[in-house]
Amino acid sequence: MKRIVYADNAATTPLSETAFEAMKPWLTEFYGNPSSLYRIGRAAKEALNEARMTVGRCLNAAEPVNVRNDYAPGEIVFTGGGSQADNLAIHGFMHGPGAKGRKHIITSKIEHHAVLYTCEALEKEGFTVTYLDVDGQGRVDLTQLKNALSEDTALVTIMAANNEIGTIQPIREIAALAHSVGAVFHTDAVQAVGHMPIDVQAMGIDLLSLSAHKFRGPRGVGVLYVKKGVALEPLVYGGGQERGLVSGTENTAGCIGLAAAMKEAVEGMDEKMGYVKRLTDRLVEGVMKIPYTHYTGDPVNRLPGTASFVFEAIEGEGLILFLDNEGVMGSTGSACSTGSLDPSHVLMAIGLPHEIAHGSLRLTLGEQNTEEDVDYIIEAVAKVVARLRSMSPVWENGKPNLTAASNLHSH
Ligand SMILES: *Cc1c(COP(=O)(O)O)cnc(C)c1O
Repeated sequence: MKRIVYADNAATTPLSETAFEAMKPWLTEFYGNPSSLYRIGRAAKEALNEARMTVGRCLNAAEPVNVRNDYAPGEIVFTGGGSQADNLAIHGFMHGPGAKGRKHIITSKIEHHAVLYTCEALEKEGFTVTYLDVDGQGRVDLTQLKNALSEDTALVTIMAANNEIGTIQPIREIAALAHSVGAVFHTDAVQAVGHMPIDVQAMGIDLLSLSAHKFRGPRGVGVLYVKKGVALEPLVYGGGQERGLVSGTENTAGCIGLAAAMKEAVEGMDEKMGYVKRLTDRLVEGVMKIPYTHYTGDPVNRLPGTASFVFEAIEGEGLILFLDNEGVMGSTGSACSTGSLDPSHVLMAIGLPHEIAHGSLRLTLGEQNTEEDVDYIIEAVAKVVARLRSMSPVWENGKPNLTAASNLHSH
């Protein structure tokens, strides 16, 4: 029996009912501009501050000194999503007084493009960037980090968990190393928040990006956590909202939806993520029975819902389209899907050969998925992989023909 199974929760998640209900009044009855002085404006501003407090508590940010102040967001700055938060953190910090004239940034080769391309843009302005290598499971090389740190290092930006392979980084250790030379530590925690415990104070995080739609909030709204005392240049100039860092009339409903979804995700995390992890383990076990299949990422320190694989003698785009026909939605880091010839920078960084990296599949589960979904996915993947291989020029007599494969991909 055909099912429809959404297994691409790292791309985005369905809005939770709680978040939707929390948002509704702010889209309808209380549509006032939070800067307006009449009742529906004041109500919006109060609700926004309440949302900030909720977010701050979920991250264990320090309590704001004066919550009643007009623009007193404490340490929580709302943005238009995760990419904006990353841009504000990196661009804003390097151009601000906090960088103290230091010109060096350290990041990793497996960051999201919101981080990588911001760093590349800064290189063109004369900043220097070190892109750290990762090992075969996607873990940042801490020795290389130690060696790269200098008195010129202003910022270390390393993601908490990777969006393609799910590998979790040793954030505490990285933050401590950054601080040892007086650098500030930023983490893109867009995949981590709501899926693993985050405590900005205990982990030593100075700047942290998150995005609502990765934990069942609405798309188009995120947060940059800014530790007190860390100065940033604005991302958007204008009316002075969000401490002047991101001007523009606030997305009241979105921010409230973010806070509601975050509270729901964080409060129920142990139970929900335990369940999701069990589903993912079952999925990995089933898919790994397919011959010539490799697991990618760190099998232990990984996000509970992420399962990623490469299949030899398979093209990822074909896999995704055939799986869609079976009702299964997943994603690939393969070439054509990203519009370039090279497979994903993450799969290259973990050292996969081109001809194998082309056959990648990422399945990311959420609390909405069931065991029946998982069993159905396993069956569908096995069927589609066998079918694609039977049509593949690099598959012969039940096994991959590696010479043909590497010739095919020698661009
Ligand atoms: C999704 C994602 C982003 C971008 O967030 P948006 O809200 O889509 O802008 C950044 N970093 C990581 C790790 C992500 O997974």
